Amino acid sequence: MRRPVIAGNWKMHKFIADSVATALALKPLVANANHCEVIIAPVFTAIKSVADRLEGSNIKIAGQDCAPEKKHGAHTGEVAADMLRDAGASYVIVGHSERRQHYAETDTMINRKMHAAIAAGLIPILCIGETLAQREAGIAERVVRGQIEGGLRELTASDLEHIIIAYEPVWAIGTGRTATPEQAQQMHSFIRRVFAEKFDEEASRRLRILYGGSVRPDNIAGLMAQPDIDGALVGGASLEAETFARIVNYDR
Ligand code: PGA
Repeated sequence: MRRPVIAGNWKMHKFIADSVATALALKPLVANANHCEVIIAPVFTAIKSVADRLEGSNIKIAGQDCAPEKKHGAHTGEVAADMLRDAGASYVIVGHSERRQHYAETDTMINRKMHAAIAAGLIPILCIGETLAQREAGIAERVVRGQIEGGLRELTASDLEHIIIAYEPVWAIGTGRTATPEQAQQMHSFIRRVFAEKFDEEASRRLRILYGGSVRPDNIAGLMAQPDIDGALVGGASLEAETFARIVNYDR
């Protein structure tokens, strides 16, 4: 009942030419992947070129961030959610841990971005997850609960039908250290429970929760076999078409 989502986050990698080349290489490799939604998130400058070349394919485009403002205006350096849509994106990553850590994004800011994304008709992928210190201090669940409540504040029931959550433990991102399928499942089931308590039981059954953090071709199947893991947000292993395609076409 929940269609899996496999999303590649290219972060600050690739010029336009390489972005287009990777996207075109990926296209035939995932053309038969009817079991899931396939998404890639190129840098802003490459979105339009990639989207144009992928038109009519089953690969969708995400922005990696968007402005918190809904209206265009004097916001130097920002890109509005509807501008991403104009360039060809249909999703946007919001609140990635790198933005929380290195660009001081708070739950309040992230919540504004969620509202802006939804208002523009984009599907936001809200990233949440604890740091190693927080896990070791035994407060991982408390942190994740706060990020859910803060990130989703004042979204309507219908808004909540149009979001995706990505659980990305910070200690697993780019470290080669993946959460075990059991560790991830435990947190995913907690996230679904919090969502059900705070918002709606029915909607929580439809909510897609992706796992992110050192996902690779050799660990994706084990993660996807867990009942509450509905897909993956892939960083490093999404940069190369062949590798990312092996993740998309995981053993089912
Ligand atoms: P990684 O990154 O797959 O390179 O660990 C995941 C992410 O940051 O989304």
